Amino acid sequence: MTDAGGMSNDAAVAGPMVARTRAELKVARSKLGDGDVGVVMTMGALHEGHATLIRHARAHARHVIVTIFLNPLQFGPREDLSRYPRTVDADMEMCTREGVDLVFLPTPDVIYPEGDPGVRVSAGPLGNVLEGQARPGHFDGVLTVVGKLLHLTGADRAYYGQKDAQQLLLIRRMIRDLDFPVEVVAVPTVREADGLAMSSRNMYLTESDRETALCLSRALRAGAAAAVEGPSAVRRAARAVVVREPLALIDYLVLVDPATLEDVPEWHLGEALLAVAGRVGTTRLIDNFPVRVGPGGGPLEVFAHDCDPDHDLTSPPS
Ligand code: AMP
Repeated sequence: MTDAGGMSNDAAVAGPMVARTRAELKVARSKLGDGDVGVVMTMGALHEGHATLIRHARAHARHVIVTIFLNPLQFGPREDLSRYPRTVDADMEMCTREGVDLVFLPTPDVIYPEGDPGVRVSAGPLGNVLEGQARPGHFDGVLTVVGKLLHLTGADRAYYGQKDAQQLLLIRRMIRDLDFPVEVVAVPTVREADGLAMSSRNMYLTESDRETALCLSRALRAGAAAAVEGPSAVRRAARAVVVREPLALIDYLVLVDPATLEDVPEWHLGEALLAVAGRVGTTRLIDNFPVRVGPGGGPLEVFAHDCDPDHDLTSPPS
């Protein structure tokens, strides 16, 4: 591994360049040249889900930048910022293994030199529902740092996980609404063998919490399996699973339009997002399945459309 002023950027041999300051990032970034740079933004504590994003970036972009930044702006005062897992050495090993070219590893004062920014990106109404309702201001904090990291890295493509579906939707909206010259690529959720969606927060789970947590993905699977019968059947099947697990405190379990995040009506046919959030022990977990509702229904890997607001999924079928 070399720092940004070092001699080598041969990722396969020496590991990625590492930049901790804006000046180091500028030097390292200039070594990558123009065009075809992919970025994977993370908060660290990297796992196979992050590795999969990096591999997608590797496969399509000429150079890959990974950012590791625990963004204080997106954590509420009573959230887990101080206990969020920090595993920088292991993260760097993964970045080396995956052939990352450059890791940007800033501290909050590098990203926010004046302290909390007075001007932030507003996520708008879509930022106030589901996760945004449980975590006020969260998505403003996410979009603000995503905007800054896109500017700082000068990436052409950015890779995000479907695991954080609402975040993905809002980033797409920001890119479109604020004319960022960046292509967003969605990567399907990576799961443990038993179905649990991979998450850095899974490290908080005790063995029995982990058993309890499985009800989230089981509920999504049950709901998706009922998709051919329509929205009510999906919701009923999914709820039937979580009510059998009283130790999982469900915050929401919804079947929504993937572009508007509004509940889909009973006559809805086509794509929908089955999403769940809940607390298990001291840990808040989220998960979702994109599904197709109606004839030929079932789980979808990723959405075919780009969450186009004009793509009206709520009209009655003709
Ligand atoms: P985080 O470090 O949790 O902020 O996540 C960084 C990126 O990795 C985000 O785009 C997440 O959606 C994505 N990600 C996290 N977990 C998974 C997963 N299990 N599968 C796919 N992508 C994931």
